[in-house]
Amino acid sequence: EEVKSLNFIEHIIEEDLKTGYGSDQLRFRFPPEPNGYLHIGHASSICLNFGLGLKYNAPVNLRFDDTNPAKEEKEYVEAIKKDVAWLGYEWDTECYASDYFQQLYNWAVELIKQGKAYVDSQTSEQIASQKGTPTEPGKPSPYRDRSAEENLKLFEGMKNGEFKEGEHVLRAKINMASSNMLMRDPVMYRILHKAHHRTNTDWCIYPMYDWTHGESDYIEQVSHSLCTLEFLPHRELYDWFLDQLVSTDKLRPKQREFARRNLSHTVVSKRKLLQLVTSGVVAGWDDPRMPTISGLRRRGYTPESIKNFADTIGIAKRENVVDVSLLEFHVREHLNKIAPRVMAVLNPLKLVITNYEEGKEEWLDAENNPEDESAGFRKVPFSRELYIEQEDFREDANRKFFRLKLGGEVRLKNGYIIQANSCTKDSEGNVIEVQCTYDPKSKSGSGTEESLRKVKGTLHWVSIPHAMTAEVRLYDRLFTDPTPDGHKDKDFMDFVNPDSLEKITGYLEPSLKEAQVGDQFQFQRMGYFNVDKDSTKEKMVFNRTVTLRDTWAK
Ligand code: ATP
Ligand code: MG
Ligand code: MG
Repeated sequence: EEVKSLNFIEHIIEEDLKTGYGSDQLRFRFPPEPNGYLHIGHASSICLNFGLGLKYNAPVNLRFDDTNPAKEEKEYVEAIKKDVAWLGYEWDTECYASDYFQQLYNWAVELIKQGKAYVDSQTSEQIASQKGTPTEPGKPSPYRDRSAEENLKLFEGMKNGEFKEGEHVLRAKINMASSNMLMRDPVMYRILHKAHHRTNTDWCIYPMYDWTHGESDYIEQVSHSLCTLEFLPHRELYDWFLDQLVSTDKLRPKQREFARRNLSHTVVSKRKLLQLVTSGVVAGWDDPRMPTISGLRRRGYTPESIKNFADTIGIAKRENVVDVSLLEFHVREHLNKIAPRVMAVLNPLKLVITNYEEGKEEWLDAENNPEDESAGFRKVPFSRELYIEQEDFREDANRKFFRLKLGGEVRLKNGYIIQANSCTKDSEGNVIEVQCTYDPKSKSGSGTEESLRKVKGTLHWVSIPHAMTAEVRLYDRLFTDPTPDGHKDKDFMDFVNPDSLEKITGYLEPSLKEAQVGDQFQFQRMGYFNVDKDSTKEKMVFNRTVTLRDTWAK
């Protein structure tokens, strides 16, 4: 097996193991806020945290960072659990920051008693106006020196619902002159008269992220709390809060940061993805064009392909945009190994084999997957009238056209060598039928000299009387620009590709009638496809996951 070098997070962990941490003290967490569905950026974080869990045989918690009842919902909690499990990871404990509300409240009371937190009764605008600038210190609030008694009374009143939203906040009393703006008396609690999806109306004050996150890590005894780079300046505050409370006999969590992963031609932000859903640009969070895990699953991506992608890009210290073609490469690579091959014609042209008996049918042997011997064979029907792709025929073409042309020969996959003799056109000059003859001795796999004869092209086809029709959904990129949210003067919605979905009728070999929702196939020469959840027995629906080759490559 290939030896992988350690990434910088693993170096930190190895160092910690050498200098005091017991290997049984390692613990990680993946901490989504349940305010949307997980996307491909989250997959990086999931693979990082759960990957470390596997590597160090350490537990990984799934922690819902559910401190904002205004945006969070149970639907999102369920979707997140489904997605993490689908990726193949098992969490140790399912945790909720909301389970710590009472503990956090008690600790906040302690801070007030120690003179390290106070109730500020200014508006949020007033507070913001006193923050100062990175080079100029902030102005202290006129309420900064309230007595502990008064603060305790007001804070309890806040908790008991005696005040309206915005009337008071609880702030940590740190340093209004700190060079780190986040240390200038950050807000710890705000009043929100909103029901929470788990605590219902038990609380009307809700803790802020910075106050909650490190303390939650401490409660769960997470050793390494890994987050994205925008939290780097928050680390000082994370540490300050822990300094006030941590007892020395317990493990002290560490926050460490890695770069966000962005994917080209899409947006990876729940807020923006929600906008695509609510504006109707896509049909839902799991629309196959979405970079959500549920969208990728519905599109036909496998957990392996997503994990291999995350593994390949690894983690970094600097933000960058990863080209979506790398993600496509990984799904192509995995589906090549596992997807059965079938024949389907998406843009049909009728072909008549004039020397093949009318009404006759044959069931030919077709190999299911040349990459997997155990996949075996199936039967495909052959008859006098077939469909091939329009693109596979030209009346007249140069020597480099290895498909069918008048006077030329090709092999029909799993079948015979045919020669095109003439064609029929409609009044506009479009070819609507090609007349061919076949060589009866050239049947694939029959072992005859003719069957071994090499011809340049091999085409896929379906027998017209046996074909089943299905709706086939072809996808293009959801955005026309590689970085839709990277423009100062334009909104990402301005770059939505109006042609990202095309629905066509495909003609499929009849074995596909048995396919179930989610089943994956290679439509030979056309790409990888799966059965969409909109599929019914009467009308099957297939999604194209990806084409066979990177058609966008420069
Ligand atoms: P969004 O902006 O999409 O809401 P978020 O960071 O607010 O992202 P969280 O639910 O808080 O979403 O994320 C859970 C974890 O996943 C966090 O540790 C976060 O840092 C990480 N994460 C989110 N987006 C990415 C990304 N694009 N690349 C890597 N990690 C990410
Ligand atoms: Mg977040
Ligand atoms: Mg967010």
